Amino acid sequence: MAEIQRIRNAFREAVRELTALEQAQEQEPEPAGSGRIKDIFAVHLRLLRDKSLRRRITDLIHSELVTAEYAVTAILREVASHFAGAKDAYISERAADFLDVERRLLKRLLGHKREDLGHLREEVVVVARELSPMQTAGFDKKFVKGIASDAGGRTSHAAIVARSLGIPAVVALEDLTEIVHDGDAVVIDGNRGIVIVNPDEETIRQYEAYGREFIALEHKLDALRDEPAVTRDGVRVALLGNIEFPDEARVVLDRGGEGVGLYRTEFLYLNRPTEPTEQEHYEAYATTVRVFRHRPVIIRTVDLGADKYTQRRRYVPEPNPFLGLRSIRYCLQNLSMFKTQLRAILRASVLGEVKIMFPLITNIQELMQAKMILHDVMEDLDDEKIKYRRDMKVGIMIETPSAALTASTLARESDFFSIGTNDLTQYTLAVDRGNELVSTLYSSADPAVLRLIRMVIQDAYKAQIDVSVCGETASEPEYVMLLLGMGIRTLSLSAPLIPEIKQVIRSVTIEDCNVLARKVLAMNSERQISAYLRNAVRQILPEVF
Ligand code: PEP
Ligand code: MG
Repeated sequence: MAEIQRIRNAFREAVRELTALEQAQEQEPEPAGSGRIKDIFAVHLRLLRDKSLRRRITDLIHSELVTAEYAVTAILREVASHFAGAKDAYISERAADFLDVERRLLKRLLGHKREDLGHLREEVVVVARELSPMQTAGFDKKFVKGIASDAGGRTSHAAIVARSLGIPAVVALEDLTEIVHDGDAVVIDGNRGIVIVNPDEETIRQYEAYGREFIALEHKLDALRDEPAVTRDGVRVALLGNIEFPDEARVVLDRGGEGVGLYRTEFLYLNRPTEPTEQEHYEAYATTVRVFRHRPVIIRTVDLGADKYTQRRRYVPEPNPFLGLRSIRYCLQNLSMFKTQLRAILRASVLGEVKIMFPLITNIQELMQAKMILHDVMEDLDDEKIKYRRDMKVGIMIETPSAALTASTLARESDFFSIGTNDLTQYTLAVDRGNELVSTLYSSADPAVLRLIRMVIQDAYKAQIDVSVCGETASEPEYVMLLLGMGIRTLSLSAPLIPEIKQVIRSVTIEDCNVLARKVLAMNSERQISAYLRNAVRQILPEVF
């Protein structure tokens, strides 16, 4: 029986993984607390080798004909709740071990499904509880026609990757996986954020017509490829692309992008067990820069942590990873990794107009420290007589309220700012950008977020440094007029959305944008602002909405 075999494989692989972790731990020097970690490994290995536990799971599959995942969860949760109810604190704490073992087994089981999706031969829509950015990046656009997930938010990284690939996606549906079954017909309307399960004939006809209209609009917008992004009254706006992988650079160029405004280099780390070498970094950057030659390529140093990579490598996950050892903080504590990347960026800088950008800067000391390390690396390259661009521009992302509030100070040490509205929104509103339970509270149209954005733009103008927006607001037509009215002249966004945003820019005047921004910044509620912005863009581009 296939499910029994899957269980056997999952147990075997989990034991192998844990044994390797245990051995790696033994070779490490003994920091405080490592004894406890070793104890945990030993307990988990004992549970995974416990024949009676495995038998209970396989018995359930035989008797109830359930999937391997279901059986693992049912049995391990039952045992865990039994332990959790014990009066003795030592015994009740063992419940967490069973839940850890459940997670470990599910990871193995769900991992196999991922492989299956890599070998699709027919068109499907993927309905999942949660997708990681790398799983999404592995989808073949030819076969995966849409994605819907229970978890996530509009700016979670899996949703961003789906947008880059041009796959319609609707996230934060909470319980869709309980409603949809294999073989159901599903409509995924990414524009409106709607999913329809088993639609009637009339709805199917309606959506086939929408589909045709959408393709016709895309063709029309494609014709704008070589036209400039200029407002009706002659103000030029630069449209750059956000990329996660070097091969997306060409897509940016094909869609009319004028360079790369955000290269999310952490994706180099996500689908491999070891860190990339300096040469691997270099080759990825060189490939990208060669596509654009003398046009800007802004390479962001790795933004690992939070939902990307580091939790998987920690035995004890951080309690609040988005507020934890993330991004520039992680780099500043892992200097050899950071320096490897900086060397590769500097080496690639001679190939074109490379700029470097530090993410999640929260204060001036952090920026000074990052710049100091960059200078150390430059000195190393000097010693080795390796060429790099001495005048390479060094900028920062403004993604936290603390950075926005001290933008005038940070501007003195930065050549440019790029406003990361995805994180700025999450940290300003205290709303996790990837948590479906609070997704309706997540909005960059909140007056608090807009006031911070305005402050950053004003401080950048005062300091005479460039300022752009590279968060998802740059790709949402509703925000374009507002951002232009607040003074933004450079936007960086997912390649497939460049033509649509260009069309909005070419349909408005800066005077209209200024008036709109003044009105919106005087409003007090997110709901009022969102409705106003939607209505304004609907009047300009009825065919998009
Ligand atoms: C942002 O936070 O707005 C941003 C562009 O960075 P990322 O989405 O990669 O966190
Ligand atoms: Mg960010």
